[in-house]
Amino acid sequence: MIQGLMQQQPLMISSIIEFAERWYPDVEVVSRTVEGPIHRCTYKELGKRARRLADSLKSLGISAGDSVGTLAWNGYRHLELYYGVSGSGAVLHTVNPRLFSEQLSYVINHANDKVMFADLTFVPLLEALADQLPNIEHYVIMTDREHMPETTLNSVICYEDLIKSGDPDYQWPVFDENSASSICYTSGTTGNPKGVVYSHRSTLIHTIASSIPNGLNLSGSDSVLLVVPQFHVNSWGVSYAAPMNGCKLVLPGPAMDGSSIHDLLESEKCTLSLAVPTIWMMLTGFLRESGKKLPHMKRVVIGGSAVPEAMIRCFEQEYDVQVIHAWGMTETSPLGTLNFLMPHLQELDYEAQMPIKLTQGKSIFGVDIRIVDDNNNPLAHDGIAFGRLQAKGHWVTSGYLGDEDNKAVGSDGWFDTGDVATINPDGYMMITDRTKDVIKSGGEWISSIEIENLAVGHPAIAEAAVIAIPHPKWDERPLVVAVIADGQEIDKTKLLSHLAESLAKWQIPDDVVFVDELPHGATGKLNKLKLREDFSDYKFPTT
Ligand code: AMP
Repeated sequence: MIQGLMQQQPLMISSIIEFAERWYPDVEVVSRTVEGPIHRCTYKELGKRARRLADSLKSLGISAGDSVGTLAWNGYRHLELYYGVSGSGAVLHTVNPRLFSEQLSYVINHANDKVMFADLTFVPLLEALADQLPNIEHYVIMTDREHMPETTLNSVICYEDLIKSGDPDYQWPVFDENSASSICYTSGTTGNPKGVVYSHRSTLIHTIASSIPNGLNLSGSDSVLLVVPQFHVNSWGVSYAAPMNGCKLVLPGPAMDGSSIHDLLESEKCTLSLAVPTIWMMLTGFLRESGKKLPHMKRVVIGGSAVPEAMIRCFEQEYDVQVIHAWGMTETSPLGTLNFLMPHLQELDYEAQMPIKLTQGKSIFGVDIRIVDDNNNPLAHDGIAFGRLQAKGHWVTSGYLGDEDNKAVGSDGWFDTGDVATINPDGYMMITDRTKDVIKSGGEWISSIEIENLAVGHPAIAEAAVIAIPHPKWDERPLVVAVIADGQEIDKTKLLSHLAESLAKWQIPDDVVFVDELPHGATGKLNKLKLREDFSDYKFPTT
């Protein structure tokens, strides 16, 4: 073999902020702060503050490989931590504050966090938890001296005081690109959350790949409102991808209601925003009520759970905003597939495009997917066969933190996602369920997600969940648990006949129960485990 004669440089997360600082120095990072006001800074300023932070970590006893936790909303200080902590060689553990308190102490102890950086909002939560966190040596409150709270926490430091002591000309160290850069825990609907450990290399490659036109299609012309939390799955990689592409970055802090989101979209002339369907439900509700529009928005990236058809139509037809439906998970950094229409599909009329738009899209380069049956045999890409979805690639986990058995990845290197999907001949993947949510009726599988999507397609339904109920003859049959939209009326018969219009007879749910609200987990997704527990004594009227 002849060796290539190209320079070899380790892929370092610090190189992203260094690049933005040098080549997009005046591009803004705009944050709605916990303290209230909107804060503005540039990549040049943010880069310097991240250097100061990295340098000041030494004074907290943090060295390479140590884990540093954050409990914070999306904001400029959190962004500084993304770079300052990982860039220094330490490991950033972004803790999801929506976990239950036992899960919070579990993940903080499991990751062995030595210092916890927290927004003002989360000080009471930490006070309640502190005696279960023996490894935390310092709490850094992400505010200035003026806003420092009275607290019972020990060894409390003010963020602004801390970074003042750091050197703004700190030089980013260069080290093995395979070193851990950050940790995110899965939402843990079953058992304890599991730690996914990203590396500088996986993060850099994911960032480059996610920026391309078939990815998030980012450029320096974009102003990006990042609603996806910086405490969940690396904020879908956008905290890295925005500075890499010179995008203006807008961070909404704790205010995620429709009106606050719309204010930022307007005032910061955002061209792109990313969030889960729940957030968009609140925004579109606000738009309808207020009659306001989205004049600057060009694209909206929706993922985390399936995008309802009504939402795609609303954005595209009422507001002229292109919907990019994306699929991924904590274990895949997260981007796996994104939905873009290939040229022959663009030629179809809108109605014919809709079934494709509803899919989670095609793989982006760097991550491969396949579907397999229960014996791990690959299934056909015919859009009909559905099986366990597996993924493999540069930014897919090879095992969970502290899990020596490493059951996540098979001997053939494929990671089992726990999702069930079809793939059509053009390569469009469609999630039909989670493995544990699919309804197994008389040897056939019924997709709970498909029925949920149809149910919320009815204007009187605000939210719906479909769960399996044991059945003496068919093993399991579907039950719809639904929330009626404000000011609307509907009954069981009407909803079932609406579903019957689009389902085969054997797929039609056996019953509907209306509730005031559905349980949600730490990342805002439906908590079907809890729902199944709530309905464990339920019996169908006919059985
Ligand atoms: P998390 O690791 O919390 O981001 O959850 C990942 C899981 O969310 C995936 O395994 C899917 O079950 C689900 N998910 C993510 N994106 C989508 C999507 N676009 N449509 C349906 N389910 C999704």
